[in-house]
Amino acid sequence: KVVCVTGAGGFIASWIVKLLLERGYTVRGTLRDPADPKKTEHLRGLDGSSERLQLFKADLLDEGSFDAIVEGCECVFHTASPFYNNPEDPQVELIDPAVKGTLNVLGSCKKASSVKRVILTSSMAAVVITEKPLSPDVVVDETSYSIPELCEKAKEWYVLSKTLAEQAAWKFSKDNGIDLVTINPAMVIGPLLQPTLNTSAQIILYLISGPPVYLNYSFGWVNVKDVALAHVLAFETPSASGRYCMVDKVVHFSEVVKIIKDMYPSVPVPEKCADDEPFAPTYQVSRDRITSLGVELTPFETSLKEAIECLKEKGFVSF
Ligand code: NDP
Repeated sequence: KVVCVTGAGGFIASWIVKLLLERGYTVRGTLRDPADPKKTEHLRGLDGSSERLQLFKADLLDEGSFDAIVEGCECVFHTASPFYNNPEDPQVELIDPAVKGTLNVLGSCKKASSVKRVILTSSMAAVVITEKPLSPDVVVDETSYSIPELCEKAKEWYVLSKTLAEQAAWKFSKDNGIDLVTINPAMVIGPLLQPTLNTSAQIILYLISGPPVYLNYSFGWVNVKDVALAHVLAFETPSASGRYCMVDKVVHFSEVVKIIKDMYPSVPVPEKCADDEPFAPTYQVSRDRITSLGVELTPFETSLKEAIECLKEKGFVSF
């Protein structure tokens, strides 16, 4: 079976490609620059890649650039989307590639009669920003949709980009009869296959690099291998549909640093919060749907340890 993974060299995508190759698929991976060894060498080193991995150039904002790549594929895993904070121009850097890029890829899928299902890497960012206050007793599930106006008011541009992209994807898919499934992970951590740091790995590296403070945030956390498996099972399971939230646990940074300190007593983790406000509340996330897909969520502590061990192994930090 032939499938396509957009943004194939990225953190999550690389694990999806690895799993697909292990399961015998022929994978067409798209990248903006297939000649960049930092984005491709780790993919070329995967088992099965010499026989069944082909890499293609495509840009999210280049209309039609996915047409020929997607033609002949049974499934398209659309993971490519910029993920970083503090853009200079949120519209150009984050929102356009996320929203127009998703519609560009879906437009190619619509034209290709071979495509049976599209799996979109969305995010918990597209789920949790609502008017409902969060607290440890609240259970968030797939019926919750982030409200764009609230993301905009908070200047959460990445969150807004993911919210608008998922909304646009559902509308386009309904209007054009595309079988769409979204995977909505929170902060994804674990071992890196690629040599570079993505945003979620940077967050862990920050915490173990002796910063003065931790931020007053509570994030959900999930293991990258679980996220990759969810993508593949969402294609392989005929009854899969709709959205799948993926969070093992929501943890405030004050707790994350305590867990790191317990695991690595010599690491200089921050002891102070960046502000004097009350701590951002934690909340629960339903795991009913993701469990029904056959994914067991790795405990946060294990994922955190895997992430830190990998950062040590790759020489980003030493202790
Ligand atoms: P990476 O930064 O590792 O990967 C992002 C990918 O997006 C890269 O492969 C990059 O491709 C591609 N991309 C960005 N802009 C463009 C563009 N204009 N045209 C084509 N490709 C583009 O990130 P992650 O693996 O962390 O994220 C992958 C997906 O998962 C994203 O959709 C992100 O929103 C989502 N996600 C990530 C979470 C996390 O904690 N990491 C949490 C929840 C969702 P190229 O190689 O060509 O530069």
